[in-house]
Amino acid sequence: MTKLSGVGPALAGRLAKLGIETVADLLFLLPNRYEDRTHIVPIGALRPEARVAVEGEIELAEVVFRRRRTLLVRLSDGTGFLTLRFFYFSGAQQQQLARGTRLRCFGEVRRGPVGLEIVHPEYRLADAPDKQAVVDVLTPVYPATEGIQQGRLRNLTAQALTALAGGELPDLLPPEVQRELKLPGLAEALQFLHRPPPDARLELLETGRHPAQRRLAFEELLAHQLSLRALRNEIRRDPGWPLAVPGKLAARLLETIGFPLTAAQQRVAAEIRTDLAVASPMLRLVQGDVGSGKTIVAALAALTAIEAGCQAALMAPTELLAEQHAQNFTRWLAPLGIEPLLLTGRLNAKARQAAIAAAASGERKLVIGTHALFQEGVSFARLALVIVDEQHRFGVHQRLALRNKGASGRYPHQLIMTATPIPRTLAMTAYADLDVSVIDELPPGRTPVQTVVMPDSRRDEIVARIRAACLQGRQAYWVCPLIEESDVLEAQAAEDTAAALAKALPEIAVGLVHGRMPATAKEKAMARFKAGEIGLLVATTVIEVGVDVPNASLMIIENAERMGLAQLHQLRGRVGRGTQASSCILLYHAPLSGHAKERLTVLRNTNDGFEVARRDLELRGPGELLGTRQTGLMQLKVADLMRDADLLPRVQAIADVMERAHAANIAALKRRWIGAAARYGKV
Ligand code: ADP
Ligand code: MG
Repeated sequence: MTKLSGVGPALAGRLAKLGIETVADLLFLLPNRYEDRTHIVPIGALRPEARVAVEGEIELAEVVFRRRRTLLVRLSDGTGFLTLRFFYFSGAQQQQLARGTRLRCFGEVRRGPVGLEIVHPEYRLADAPDKQAVVDVLTPVYPATEGIQQGRLRNLTAQALTALAGGELPDLLPPEVQRELKLPGLAEALQFLHRPPPDARLELLETGRHPAQRRLAFEELLAHQLSLRALRNEIRRDPGWPLAVPGKLAARLLETIGFPLTAAQQRVAAEIRTDLAVASPMLRLVQGDVGSGKTIVAALAALTAIEAGCQAALMAPTELLAEQHAQNFTRWLAPLGIEPLLLTGRLNAKARQAAIAAAASGERKLVIGTHALFQEGVSFARLALVIVDEQHRFGVHQRLALRNKGASGRYPHQLIMTATPIPRTLAMTAYADLDVSVIDELPPGRTPVQTVVMPDSRRDEIVARIRAACLQGRQAYWVCPLIEESDVLEAQAAEDTAAALAKALPEIAVGLVHGRMPATAKEKAMARFKAGEIGLLVATTVIEVGVDVPNASLMIIENAERMGLAQLHQLRGRVGRGTQASSCILLYHAPLSGHAKERLTVLRNTNDGFEVARRDLELRGPGELLGTRQTGLMQLKVADLMRDADLLPRVQAIADVMERAHAANIAALKRRWIGAAARYGKV
């Protein structure tokens, strides 16, 4: 940067803080909007809210004292007049802005007390000796850069563009790829984005859909794709555990569970078995809608590891889910002589020591737990398989941490299960380090959940409905609102709701589960609900994932308008697991915004998790859907996974070409977009 004129050590330091250390970095600092100063607008044609350039003569300048000292300048060009308002001004400025002076100004027009005005316009004297023509490009406005003025940035980027024109920045996409893309070259795209011509299509630029932006977005997505692929290949090269076994344990489990696997479960189980048989570690994501039966598929994988004389670990996002998995697995595996070990943060010190010892010695073959599984001090003798349930709650980092629990120098296979269905191209981009299997079929005999949306003013009606359902031997969930700032308040709300409902429904046993209850109390409430001793279970969103009580057929969700679509779909998946017709009532607190209404309507109209995810993606964008912030995935500068989704198939195809024929450019591409600091996917 110091090669550029006007950049001393101080400015270079400030730029470095913004991540700009080279001229190339500066070129990739793109404007976030543009202003049209290419023509002067007659004052008579001004409209409020427009950002415009105007020119005129000062008719009057006066300092007034209202609430604060203000300099008011009246500018006229024969078509009308405009007030310029200054709250901060020097004596010199006041002298300069005298009657009769010609000014050229730029700023945002707004309605003032007497006609239109511009507060603190940028201005210069129009008849100064260095009289400049109107600028001939749109003026870039760069993202807020602490302490560095826009004018300074324009000057620096102008110099950088000169260097660019001199061939300073190599185009890393080879010519045949460029030809196929039909997008501008790198230098052309950057020149355009920093200094668009006056006829540039601002509406395209503002929505990020201009070909010049798409050229950069493409390159960025390509860099991320290549980076993820490299990570995957690196993991594949690690020594793993070839688990080729006859499958006797799995066969015995299938005999005892009492239902045949669906075709989709069989296909996915076979894909997993094939992966497990080879020495290179598996990295497989199993996507399946809520209730599609992912758990049994995971159990079969665990049995493969156990039959090979190794250990398997199952990691769940919540205590409740870990406990429930432990119960299910105990029921399924006890006949095979396998006793799962539960390891959560809730164990007391003694129980925890014992559990850690049993995992470390290899005595216990299946360990089920929460984050506690990858804490310091936990180790395994022969860990060959790690299963992560409901992946979107875990990050890449946590996954990698478990991967390192192998101890023996061999890396475990990884099976990741998620109910968040992600469109395929997006999955391949966001999770390029994983192979994807899809359980695209629900077990037979499910009755679709009927969803209705209602204002919470109709609570009494709903209470009557719960009473009727419970008296017929059915069970219901009441989900209390999510209070993100405070789990204490959330627990309090759940307790109050449970008390109120118990009062309203004296003939029905009301239970309660929330995140702050002791583990034993939670377990007890869940067990009683499962056994049918509790008719109505009041819960916080802790029951969002995994909880499985087939006799529950009614769910009420309070303040549904505050929750995400994916979360509501997960919650709703707790009912519709048995053979009775189930319903889900989404309660909202009026008034409902148009956007919220649209979201709740999506759930009313479909039970298909893939469809919900597609609409969620449209309404919210992929960042939240993929749990981007947690996973550290995709810190994108230019591209937007949703907007640029149509580029993804070509990104895949061209990543192949790059790996095959232009491997030399890959490192530079990754450096350009991802940077040396953030080795993609690494802790
Ligand atoms: P999820 O995919 O949401 O984790 P689960 O694994 O919890 O779903 O399965 C939901 C319910 O469906 C459980 O009660 C499970 O025993 C049952 N189930 C799974 N597979 C089948 C099947 N092939 N036929 C009938 N019931 C099944
Ligand atoms: Mg599950």
